[in-house]
Amino acid sequence: MSLERRAALCRPPSFFGLRKGPALSNFLPGELDAIARQIQTPFYAYSAQMIRDRIASLHGAFRGLDVRICYAVKANSNIAILQLMAQHGVGADIVSLGEMQRSLKAGIPAERIVFSGVGKTADEIDAALSAGVWRFNVESADELHLLQHRAQSRGVCARAAVRINPDVDARTHAKISTGKAENKFGVSIDEARRWFAECAALDHVQLDGLHAHIGSQILDLEPFRQALQRVEAFRRELVQSGHAIASVDIGGGLGVTYRPGGDMPVDIADYASLVRATFAGFKGTLALEPGRWLVAEAGVLVTRAIRVKHGTDRQFLVVDAAMNDLLRPSLYDAWHEIVPMHGRNEPDVAYDVVGPVCETGDTFAQGRVLARCEAGDLLMIAGAGAYGASMGSTYNSRPLPPEVLLDDGRYAIIRRRQTITEMMAGEQFPQAWHET
Ligand SMILES: *Cc1c(COP(=O)(O)O)cnc(C)c1O
Repeated sequence: MSLERRAALCRPPSFFGLRKGPALSNFLPGELDAIARQIQTPFYAYSAQMIRDRIASLHGAFRGLDVRICYAVKANSNIAILQLMAQHGVGADIVSLGEMQRSLKAGIPAERIVFSGVGKTADEIDAALSAGVWRFNVESADELHLLQHRAQSRGVCARAAVRINPDVDARTHAKISTGKAENKFGVSIDEARRWFAECAALDHVQLDGLHAHIGSQILDLEPFRQALQRVEAFRRELVQSGHAIASVDIGGGLGVTYRPGGDMPVDIADYASLVRATFAGFKGTLALEPGRWLVAEAGVLVTRAIRVKHGTDRQFLVVDAAMNDLLRPSLYDAWHEIVPMHGRNEPDVAYDVVGPVCETGDTFAQGRVLARCEAGDLLMIAGAGAYGASMGSTYNSRPLPPEVLLDDGRYAIIRRRQTITEMMAGEQFPQAWHET
């Protein structure tokens, strides 16, 4: 993009008022404005450069270690985002066949894919075995035996890691905490110990890995320290009893800044030092499964104000994005920065920012102080690159919004807006009735 055009698109720095957080520095409001005029709102926009920067800092922090980064596909599963990962040597952590197909389609080689999740079915295991994924992160004894059975009937050997539930408190939202004993994920160290003791009987499973993932949006090094120390102590114990451990997968969970000045994410260098120190005695491969940290701050949801509704004791700013587009506020009470892009110098107003869906939970923010908005104004909802589009639904029969990738002053549509016809595709009136 020419300098003149970039300058024209760049409004003065005061444009964002004082509320501009780090997550927004990758987006020029003029660019988003221009895109909004082309493709309408709401839409997701992602900064390719910011994702590349995150990948590079992760690689940098772990330089010299035998590390595989397996991006947690569920955070943002658009194939163009996965292609960016593939282009930079990043693999995938998948939890379904759909995620496997996306990853392979985007060019992530099967040997860089790990398969996690408590509900892997026989069909999924078969497909992953035939694709040749790197390893299965096994979460129950039943799954371990199914894996043995499926591998045996295919005449192959499945590589597996046991997902340990280290019983630590990740100090995050209950709905994204996965490493406490009461959570459905992984098995206790006692159970894992029995698996290793009995694994000689499983002649089609090579159980030589450990895995732990304790939760998401973790802003504190301490839970990681506790979990990793438990995993490493267990690894040493296993090695003492003669088991070879080829890989340790330390999961994802690194938190990001949703609230500038409020959330203080873990410094990636500190995290890497912790990992280096904890696993100093380990000679195998370390795997990392970051999702949110790679993409959350690289994405915004752009929406337009439909109207301002004056309630009895509050002002509702009704926007054209809704909980079906971005579920996090409704599901996790998540806080997202909301930035009006009108650029006018307006007095502050406290708004309940709500979508059009018929649910009280369809609320992006309550009592949020913003420069006064009016119908037609564009707003961006920041920190929407992870668990945004990938959690989207068509609830209230609202078609899925488009996604665009911004790179070097240009943009590409990486998912076009779903049409209403596409939304109904697959549904039909009963044409044939089958005997049950
Ligand atoms: C969701 C998930 C991740 C990614 O978590 P983030 O908090 O997005 O980094 C990693 N591993 C597993 C097994 C997961 O379920």
